[in-house]
Amino acid sequence: MLGNGADAARRAIESEEQLLIIARHVKKAGAHLLRGGAYKPRTSPYSFQGLEDAGLKILKRVREETGLPVVTEAVDHEVYDLVEEAADMVQIGARNMQNFSLLKRAGRSPKPVLLKRGQSATVEEWLMAAEYILERGNPRVVLCERGVRTFTRHSRNTLDLSAVPFVQRESHLPIVVDPSHATGKRHQVTPLSRAAVAAGAHGVMVEVHHAPEEALCDGAQSLHPDEFETLCRQIRLVYQASTSP
Ligand code: PEP
Ligand code: MN
Repeated sequence: MLGNGADAARRAIESEEQLLIIARHVKKAGAHLLRGGAYKPRTSPYSFQGLEDAGLKILKRVREETGLPVVTEAVDHEVYDLVEEAADMVQIGARNMQNFSLLKRAGRSPKPVLLKRGQSATVEEWLMAAEYILERGNPRVVLCERGVRTFTRHSRNTLDLSAVPFVQRESHLPIVVDPSHATGKRHQVTPLSRAAVAAGAHGVMVEVHHAPEEALCDGAQSLHPDEFETLCRQIRLVYQASTSP
């Protein structure tokens, strides 16, 4: 992940078997990093909340088994130590983008941070949130555009691709795009991933599931492994085209 035009594939962790199947598929397709949610920030308290500590253990085993580095979310202070120990990179989700004490904790961490844009945050607020982490001494922050809330209904959020060139002009931080949470719809994920790379994103983070109808979380936005493979091939070409002299 996070090399130019590269991808991270990701899902909620449901079981070791499920994660291993997906991890093998996405590695073969060329993913550089595996994102799996152990602690899940869910809108409803009645939705699947993640396997928590057991999810982290699964993530560690799949990491060892496949050699793929892993990223997973620290939803609060309480779990930061555990997440930091298990992951190669710690995600701070949209809902926590302005949780300043969590940002300061991330600033004291030796692990890189994937900082998602808040659902209603301006790019300036997002860059200031990143500043909290940098200022505490952690220089390794990657920004992730995941759509902002607007009046539209055809898409879960509105993917703000104009943030990509703006961030690249205003900041030195790498930026990746998450078209899965931005749209909530599988058919929009591939076109917007191609567009993200064309706009200059350093990578995309895409949800993948081999049986999305059975997924406990976000099945409607998950690509099948073969769709992910096609996407990987396409974005390499888009990257070449958009960086050619
Ligand atoms: C996620 O990445 O798992 C997630 C919940 O996304 P966001 O924080 O962007 O809503
Ligand atoms: Mn998800």
